[in-house]
Amino acid sequence: MNPKKLPIYELRVELSDALKAGNRIIIEAPTGSGKSTQVPQIVLDCGNAGPGEVVVLQPRRLAARLLAKRVAFERNEPLGGEVGYQVRMEKHVSAKTQIRYVTEGILLRQFLSDPQLRGVSTIVFDEFHERHIYGDITLARALRLQKTRPDLKIIVMSATLDAGPLREYLAPCRELKSEGRMFPVEICYAKKRIDFRHHPMWEAAADAFEQAIESGAEGDVLVFMPGGYEISRTVEAIRGRRCARGFAVLPLHGELSAHDQDAAVGECDRRKVVVATNVAETSITIDGIRIVIDAGFARIARYDPNRGIDTLLVERISRASADQRTGRAGRTAPGTCHRLWTEQEHVARPMQELPEILRHDLAEVVLTLKAGGIDDVENFEWLEPPDPKSLARTLALLADLGAIDHAGRLTAVGQKMVSFPMHPRYARMLLAGQEYGCVRQACLIAALTQGRSILERNKGAETRGTRDEVLGEDDVSDFQRLMRAWSFADQNQYRVDACRRLGVHAGAARLVKPLYQRFMKIAEQEGLDINARAPLDEDLQKCILLSFSDQVAKRRDRGTLHCAVVHGRAGDLDRDTVVRDAELVVAAEIREIEGRGLNVRLNLCTAISEAWLDELFPEDIEEKTEAVFDPVLKRVVSKECKLFRGLELQASMKQAVDPQQAAEIIAEEVLAGRLELYKWDEAVETWIARVNCLAEGCPDYGIPAIDEEARRAMVQEICLGAVCKRDLKDRPVWKVVKSWLSAAQLDLIDKQVPERIKLPSGLNARVRYEAGQPPVLSASIQKLYDLNETPRIGFGQIPVVVEALAPNQRPQQKTQDMKSFWENAYPMLKKELKGRYPKHEWR
Ligand code: ADP
Ligand code: MG
Repeated sequence: MNPKKLPIYELRVELSDALKAGNRIIIEAPTGSGKSTQVPQIVLDCGNAGPGEVVVLQPRRLAARLLAKRVAFERNEPLGGEVGYQVRMEKHVSAKTQIRYVTEGILLRQFLSDPQLRGVSTIVFDEFHERHIYGDITLARALRLQKTRPDLKIIVMSATLDAGPLREYLAPCRELKSEGRMFPVEICYAKKRIDFRHHPMWEAAADAFEQAIESGAEGDVLVFMPGGYEISRTVEAIRGRRCARGFAVLPLHGELSAHDQDAAVGECDRRKVVVATNVAETSITIDGIRIVIDAGFARIARYDPNRGIDTLLVERISRASADQRTGRAGRTAPGTCHRLWTEQEHVARPMQELPEILRHDLAEVVLTLKAGGIDDVENFEWLEPPDPKSLARTLALLADLGAIDHAGRLTAVGQKMVSFPMHPRYARMLLAGQEYGCVRQACLIAALTQGRSILERNKGAETRGTRDEVLGEDDVSDFQRLMRAWSFADQNQYRVDACRRLGVHAGAARLVKPLYQRFMKIAEQEGLDINARAPLDEDLQKCILLSFSDQVAKRRDRGTLHCAVVHGRAGDLDRDTVVRDAELVVAAEIREIEGRGLNVRLNLCTAISEAWLDELFPEDIEEKTEAVFDPVLKRVVSKECKLFRGLELQASMKQAVDPQQAAEIIAEEVLAGRLELYKWDEAVETWIARVNCLAEGCPDYGIPAIDEEARRAMVQEICLGAVCKRDLKDRPVWKVVKSWLSAAQLDLIDKQVPERIKLPSGLNARVRYEAGQPPVLSASIQKLYDLNETPRIGFGQIPVVVEALAPNQRPQQKTQDMKSFWENAYPMLKKELKGRYPKHEWR
């Protein structure tokens, strides 16, 4: 298709004008309109963006390369000339480059080396609807840069966009929209739910393919699968079907060679079936597709709280993604889309995927921001701020890893960590590997902790015996055994039978290899020494400690597996660990035990020594003396302790304590109800209620209420001089409590909130005072005769509630209005009671 005929060209004049008039533009146009390939060219060719490069930010490496190649081709230029691309570890650009496609990290790193981004005229954010974390923060930084470089143009592009929040964020900005062209696509759902555990998704996809082709559907086919493995199985399955004869069946994903990727998107002399990951969802357009088969899954990165890192999980895609995929069948002519799930299942899917900022680990991003001079990440201009809790957790982790200091500033180690394209924990690990001559081991440990464990649990005695025989018995780290198990599996080509004998999960072990190689490659590129001799145990242990120092734990006792963990947590040591005899350990994996709050299970442990904590983290060691209440001795003792990040390493007790401090601590125990002041009885409480009754009922008389704080002060005063439970026995209480009021005020209490009130019948009735309640007087009806007015206390300002009792002393009625009681309630009451108690006097 002639690129100049693509729908995006409708917007050419508008775009060119918008570039002249302002510096922020949103472009919304459906996939295939020509955004990614044409917009950078329009910007460059119209000349309104000023001199300099047009940088196009792409979420995927594969797309960056293919787009650059396509645009260079359209402009009849060699790749790396006027048009180039740059992704992690791969660069095709030159001094002539005017349009540069880059992936997320690249531009952010450019900000680090040149905060003014000299030589860049325009930044185009492509596929912005995917809301990648790096896209979000690069946009924030670009907006900030515009304050000093208003000539910088920002263009945000997307196929589908809920532009609302973005519009506000970018204001003032121009919005350009193209409807594009779309042919209708018929959606076919699975009739019955397909259980992929019994009927693999590649077989289901091949079935759908067969059905489509046999029904005479025309055009090329695009199949969506979650990852490389499923793609190769699908390619095999489709090739195996008879109706696939005459088709070229081609895989497309990021791990393939450039040659294979080009083949999948390029022209073909036969009908094509392209089996792709979600790169083909919106990033890449393949011409001629009229049939889409969608397995409905994608690999999605999510924060795994157990391992403290992101892991790729195969998950159901959202309805929005499914619709994008469907659209791929209707670009050139009407098409069909086969969804391998039922219509009912469809409704249950989420509308949209959460933005990465809300589901990813933030450590790497925050470290990059810090390296870019943004110390106050909490107040960074986030398009959508991350959860404050995960941000706080991230900052704590970076501090523990030594990447930032206690003031939150980047350290020298942190500065080095930034250049490692990986989670800061593993960057720290590789650097520690260099320090201790164990880079190779560090890479392997890093690889081993990314996925599921390669050693199966709960194996029988026989397997365990073979394991010990082959792998040896270690006592310093679970990782030594894990590393040997992996080497064993590797040497045996991951053969299931060999692995099974040792209880090694062959599939999981196989997945470790490419990760290990990737870590090794990065280590090499960063100039680390990967060929050191085998390290001493101690060096390896220290390397592990430096990378997981946020998970140091100390055994509470020898008998159980209970541990105290740094930062005030508690946990249980995994039963299978080889370091069961160690007193101090560092765990590489901690799992929260469901429903038990901060209680965790500590896995993959390594023994460490206290001296190493002194040596490696001198700033995190705290020595303090404090007075505490010893619940066993039931006395205040002075405790001298040494802490590492809140974890008590050592403690010793002494009896000598400061009396003032002791009094405060004893008082706290009393206030919390754990100790008793024997003489603080009901009478004291009643008296306090009387004081409060007058204080509240007659505020004009200046009686101070006795609130929580006053109680605390009283209890502290009473406890002065006490250091243990026994000392509380004879503590006088009344004297202190009454000293709250002056002699004149005490006199008012006696008179105005009296303990008893004399009634006309001669009864000296007791008044009940309770906190927060009006005063109450109870008396049998006969004793209330002639009491025609409601009794009042507190200078006549506080009415007393009168509770009338039947002859059996049961309360019958409560009133604060005696007149009305005698007139209205009493006659009925009398009738009833007289029948039951005829011998009493009833007036
Ligand atoms: P958008 O970004 O709006 O989805 P693109 O700019 O990626 O659109 O693609 C526009 C059109 O350019 C596609 O529909 C296709 O016709 C053509 N095109 C893009 N990339 C290639 C390529 N690598 N090979 C052949 N044609 C391509
Ligand atoms: Mg695009």
